[in-house]
Amino acid sequence: MAYLGTPAATADIIRKYGFNFQKKFGQNFLVDANILNKIVDSADIQKDDCIIEIGPGIGTLTQYLAERAGQVAAVEIDKNLIPILEETLSGYKNVTVINEDILKTDINKLAEERNQGKPVKVIANLPYYITTSIIMGLFESHVPLSSITVMVQKEVADRMQSGPGSKDYGVLSLAVQYYARPEILMNVSPSCFMPKPKVGSAVIRLVKYKELPVKVENERKLFAIIRAAFNQRRKTLANALANASYALEDEKGTVKITRQQVCDALDQMGLSQTIRGEALTLQQFASLCDIF
Ligand code: SAM
Repeated sequence: MAYLGTPAATADIIRKYGFNFQKKFGQNFLVDANILNKIVDSADIQKDDCIIEIGPGIGTLTQYLAERAGQVAAVEIDKNLIPILEETLSGYKNVTVINEDILKTDINKLAEERNQGKPVKVIANLPYYITTSIIMGLFESHVPLSSITVMVQKEVADRMQSGPGSKDYGVLSLAVQYYARPEILMNVSPSCFMPKPKVGSAVIRLVKYKELPVKVENERKLFAIIRAAFNQRRKTLANALANASYALEDEKGTVKITRQQVCDALDQMGLSQTIRGEALTLQQFASLCDIF
């Protein structure tokens, strides 16, 4: 089977099977061999790696992955793509296609069955409508992972990589950076896809930390505080947290924090009482959480 990463080869296979693109599944297939090569070059794929691909589409990126990795497990929701994948991947004995919704797939079980629980690499041109759920799902369910290399909407990549002081810095930045070191590898133009998406794209690599960079007594409380701080990001942190006790739920129930408690904690940390949440680093949020 010839490589699919061109507009002509993609159009041919789509026509042959009478396939209709489904907007609701975020179907924008890569048709640029240069970008495909760059993705696999930058994803640090070894001959004995087990790759999980989310949304193989017609199998374009899957072919490139199968050439380099030990094995590829590709999870695709759209049953209309399965017969196409049978043809386009017929030459690769190291690929398994699983017709499932990735949000309902037990990826821990998949990693256990395919790779005896050793760390897998996730590489994908993601369906953009569920980017955050997929990435946070992988981290929060503690799937054994070494890295995630994915195409996402450019704005989302910027949010994942941002730090304090940037307008893009927020809950997603902190949630991702709690688990992994993000690095945007390249921006990708809409013209590299069929059909062309309305937004710009970027490939980002998230290299999972072997040890978490911050340690807190209560992870859920840390993220409840972060969410509350950014829910009202133009307010001072003291006001945002005091106003938001409803949002500060952890497993013990609602956490009530008074304005005075936040001010005292900020004093203890040597920070201004008028500081906004968007100025705090992950480390500072962790210290704040432990003081409460
Ligand atoms: N990998 C292909 C490529 O690069 O050309 C296709 C990428 S396309 C952006 C996203 C793919 O994810 C589509 O094939 C779509 O059907 C699939 N998809 C969408 N939602 C999914 C879900 N919940 N679970 C698994 N696959 C999904």
